[in-house]
Amino acid sequence: MSAVSPITSANITTPSVTRATFDDVMVPTYAPSTMVPVRGSGLDLWDQNGKHYLDFTSGIAVTSLGHAHPAIVEALCAQANNVWHLSNGYTNEPVLKLAQALTQATFADRAFFCNSGAEANEAAFKLARKYAHGKFGSQKSRIISCLNSFHGRTLFTVSVGGQEKYTEGFEPLPPAISHIAFNDIEAARAAIKDDVCAVVVEPIQGEGGVTPATLEYLQALRAFCDEKGALLIFDEVQCGMGRTGTLYTYMQYGVAPDILTSAKALGNGYPIGAMLTTNEIAQAFSVGSHGTTYGGNPLAASVALKVLEIINTPSFLTRVQQAGILMKNMLQSIVDDYSHLFSGVRGTGLLLGLVLAEGCRGRAKDVRNAAEAKGLMLLIAGPDVIRIAPALIVSDEQIATAERLLRDTLNTFN
Ligand SMILES: *Cc1c(COP(=O)(O)O)cnc(C)c1O
Repeated sequence: MSAVSPITSANITTPSVTRATFDDVMVPTYAPSTMVPVRGSGLDLWDQNGKHYLDFTSGIAVTSLGHAHPAIVEALCAQANNVWHLSNGYTNEPVLKLAQALTQATFADRAFFCNSGAEANEAAFKLARKYAHGKFGSQKSRIISCLNSFHGRTLFTVSVGGQEKYTEGFEPLPPAISHIAFNDIEAARAAIKDDVCAVVVEPIQGEGGVTPATLEYLQALRAFCDEKGALLIFDEVQCGMGRTGTLYTYMQYGVAPDILTSAKALGNGYPIGAMLTTNEIAQAFSVGSHGTTYGGNPLAASVALKVLEIINTPSFLTRVQQAGILMKNMLQSIVDDYSHLFSGVRGTGLLLGLVLAEGCRGRAKDVRNAAEAKGLMLLIAGPDVIRIAPALIVSDEQIATAERLLRDTLNTFN
């Protein structure tokens, strides 16, 4: 049931700001939709005009428990009536409990908290360099990442990311970074030489088109890294926190990294990022070698602790797996019925991609916009893939509604 009442014609007032305001006052880094959401509950959203939308974007795999989840609202409000912020000159109870919970649940022994995925990766890359420099010497600096990968927008993380369009114009870029083709074992073998301090990979490439790594690929990266004394970093900013049916995706592969980064769904929309690692590697950092003002502040940590408590239960994760199978079957039936538009479905759990057919290349945005007009919000992952990443609490009924809206969209799509 909705925790909030929908907007009706009776309570709509003329808004003082609209989408047009964006073009007047915002730095033009985004091209947002023409509709402005003002209220949400679960997977339901309403815009300024009271129009209803079924949100299958979850803010790019962030609001995994949906909008205004009562237990998360309660966790935030309880902490908001207490201590908001202390600085890292003091620790706090929520952040210690969160670190305990994350390390108990994963391969890791230690956590570092920050405010975003980019910062979690920034910390991971800095830690990998520091660890290698201390153990092997400063010539061991190279970071290997995959083409089409996405690791954030700071200059370091965007340079490690494998999409040239995002670094164009920002040169000079940090040195000693190389890119290899994703899922290509021979390319990895050739690239991972003695000068490599770390290899970073998304177990499922999100922004790059919802492409899972093969089991053999992750196993090979693990073996090459061990052979050369390089650290294996898994960027689970998008695919982690239950999105694929296990708390972290590496758990399905049975290949553990040395460093894991998490963000997005960790705070269900309250900004927080985490870098998890082992005792030995964590010791490469010392007091003062890295930090951030807000990292692990009590508000963010309280929210994340509650999110983790809800997501990391067998019943919740089993349901994500079930919903993922239902969704994948639904999308496969769409591929079968609209084979002139789509060539296939890929992904795991509730991180799925509907791949556009040869003749429809570049039209992902058109499909998304047409679906939005029908009241179904979808994501894209590059120009050729529709990304389906609803809140993990999506019901069978909502999946059926999404199918109906998507078929309605595609029946008139040309
Ligand atoms: C979104 C994303 C990031 C960047 O996270 P921000 O919070 O936007 O900095 C990094 N890696 C992956 C895999 C992502 O999907």
